[in-house]
Amino acid sequence: MYRTHNCGALRIEDEGKEVTLSGWLQASRDFGGMTFIDLRDRYGITQLVFNTDDNDKLAEKAQKLGRESVIRVQGVVKERSNKNPNRPTGDIEIEVKSLDILNESKTPPFTIEDETDGGDDLRMKYRYLDIRRNPVKESLIFRSKLAIETRKHLSDQNFVEVETPVLIKSTPEGARDFVVPSRMNPGQFYALPQSPQTFKQILMVAGMDRYFQIVKCFRDEDLRADRQPEFTQIDCEMAFVTQEEILNTFEDLTKHLFKAMKGIDLPDFPRMEYDEALRLYGSDKPDLRFGMQFVELNDLAKGKGFGVFDSAELIVGICAEGQAEAYSNKDIKHLTEWMQRPQIGAKGLVYVKVNTDGTFKSSVGKFYDDETLKTWAEKFDAKPGDMLLILSGEAEKTRKQLNELRLEMGRKMGLMKEGDFKPLWVVDFPLLEWDEESERFHAMHHPFTSPKKADVDRMLNGDHETMKSLKADAYDLVINGSEIGGGSIRIHDRDLQSRNFDLLGFTKEEAQAQFGFLLGAFEYGAPPHGGIAFGFDRLCAVMNGQSSIRDYIAFPKNNQGRDMMIDAPSPIDQVQLDELKLDLQKEKV
Ligand code: ASP
Repeated sequence: MYRTHNCGALRIEDEGKEVTLSGWLQASRDFGGMTFIDLRDRYGITQLVFNTDDNDKLAEKAQKLGRESVIRVQGVVKERSNKNPNRPTGDIEIEVKSLDILNESKTPPFTIEDETDGGDDLRMKYRYLDIRRNPVKESLIFRSKLAIETRKHLSDQNFVEVETPVLIKSTPEGARDFVVPSRMNPGQFYALPQSPQTFKQILMVAGMDRYFQIVKCFRDEDLRADRQPEFTQIDCEMAFVTQEEILNTFEDLTKHLFKAMKGIDLPDFPRMEYDEALRLYGSDKPDLRFGMQFVELNDLAKGKGFGVFDSAELIVGICAEGQAEAYSNKDIKHLTEWMQRPQIGAKGLVYVKVNTDGTFKSSVGKFYDDETLKTWAEKFDAKPGDMLLILSGEAEKTRKQLNELRLEMGRKMGLMKEGDFKPLWVVDFPLLEWDEESERFHAMHHPFTSPKKADVDRMLNGDHETMKSLKADAYDLVINGSEIGGGSIRIHDRDLQSRNFDLLGFTKEEAQAQFGFLLGAFEYGAPPHGGIAFGFDRLCAVMNGQSSIRDYIAFPKNNQGRDMMIDAPSPIDQVQLDELKLDLQKEKV
């Protein structure tokens, strides 16, 4: 037998028991006549003690063991004289009677501690060692429980989990596809799904009524900390539903998950129109853990001789509460430089400090007297001691820049509190987005999203300009500034779907070739339907206040899309290439 107990199980009540434990050697310490070893497994750490006087050979053997060796010990549970209150097993230790070395270990390339000295790539290369560390291990356990809670809840609501294929057809759904060559159909390729979108819609036509799947999706995009080329969605679809019912169903799921996993009761989620989110926060995923809403100053700041503002389409700012005295000229200079970095690209930054004596200090004090600045402060609801930060320029760009500044101030002022969760629904997204560069419309969500009922006529009969103002039954769930989920009511009418493909620049033939199966299905009684998908990895991270999703993925890829452990992607040999009728390597030579 390898063990009677795991390394997290024994307590003072077990004193005197003969036990067998197996695990990894976390650390060992020699003190004169005693050798102590911390033995670790998934469940915890138990202290072993080897008494040299009693058993010389055993202690000697123990002293030679390196970190991460795998051992089995037999011994007796004893009360510790020197208790460790930080460990559930801290009241006891095992007085070892016999020791087996099950496997020795090389010295690990980084420490197996909560705070490790290993860099990202090294940790990913030796992921099996990294997963031995508590933060990664706990993240994976959290993920597993979250998946189980999701399944439980959705299944209770009559959702059926259906697996959809992984080898599908390449379709333009926003990002680039990963493709897989077909050996049996030379010159033809499968694509890995960016989402099971069309399949779940077809399942609604098929009468499944409520579908979900915790499913891998693949997008060949440039990577960031919160993006991976393969990621997991909680993908859902419902038939005979309105947007209202979908929002309620998935608000309930979210509340259930927070309650079950974190013991948190979330209040009802506020809703905000997309246009309003942009106007008030410059972002379609505002972080509502703090206020600092945008205030527009066009009416109060134009026409006073300050050319920059006079020529600006939009003058807009935020009020940083209580920051007037905290910010020296040098601090403001640094903040301005931060805003001027190419990533943000602001031209400048105007400040107005509301002094405690009722006067004002401002970088544009030459152009605006205190009387005028007072009207600004009033519009911001600013109190003495506050500082206004103002940007100007082309409206859309300026709002984006101010969003960055708002978030930076939120961080600096410590307003993004850990353990504080502020979900909201952003609704009424535009249906289409005009892309100046390619001179065509893109679907803001995806090509299957329905316009709002009130906009259907305008969509079928309107001119080019009208198309820009169409609103969709599309919604995002945002928590603490992260987009956690997104979905829409779908078009279920063949003609409207064709019109949408038209607007998106598909010829009839292209639409037929790529989506003929869906258009075909729509001719056999497609029910009204809609759905949503949650980013499962991101949900895990956000629920734990983390910005990176990597620790919630057992074997993540690095920023180059590389799996450092198995070293993928990698070349394949000529025999495989020949079988696939791919001549890549031959051409190169
Ligand atoms: N398929 C969509 C996505 O992956 C979600 C949805 O519309 O249900 O973003």
